[in-house]
Amino acid sequence: IDTVEYVRRAIRSVPDWPKPGVVFRDITPVLQDPRTFRVLIDMFVYRYMRQRLDLVAGIDARGFILGAVLAYELNLGFVPVRKKGKLPFKTLAEEYSLEYGNATVEMHTDAVKPGQRVLLIDDLIATGGTMMAAAKLLQRLGANVVEAAAIIDLPELNGSAILKETGMPVFTVCSFT
Ligand code: IMP
Repeated sequence: IDTVEYVRRAIRSVPDWPKPGVVFRDITPVLQDPRTFRVLIDMFVYRYMRQRLDLVAGIDARGFILGAVLAYELNLGFVPVRKKGKLPFKTLAEEYSLEYGNATVEMHTDAVKPGQRVLLIDDLIATGGTMMAAAKLLQRLGANVVEAAAIIDLPELNGSAILKETGMPVFTVCSFT
């Protein structure tokens, strides 16, 4: 099996979580096993090592794990995109809609400088709402979002397609339907 399939097989599918009818794609087994963790991170490293990047922005909370390790390996800085109310300094917020209700993501206003080239990363793209809101925050600060990356795409929810329609390059390691 190839490296993508090696990682894909380590992703756990949890039926009826967080609510009935939903299948949650759980990456904790990928992180827990040192071989799948390394293979996963190395896929991102090889993809981005020849790109001119300044920062990796990771989305709360699994994007922190991936983003911090990747930033370290690529010799880049890391900045967090956090859920509302967690960041202590001056923040910029972007609200977006979920299936039920709304959510807000925030960044520190000095997290990126205009013109900086930023890789955005999270574990999974579903509707794309979270990635889109995070990208907007970065763009409002003048950053150039080079790509939105995730381990998993759920293509049936159209998020990656919608992101691509806005001109945002998207990379995902694998998809689940
Ligand atoms: P979206 O905003 O609809 O694209 O949802 C993506 C966000 O929700 C990401 O931050 C994911 O971590 C989280 N998420 C949604 N569904 C799943 C899942 O099945 N597994 C892991 N995370 C999920």
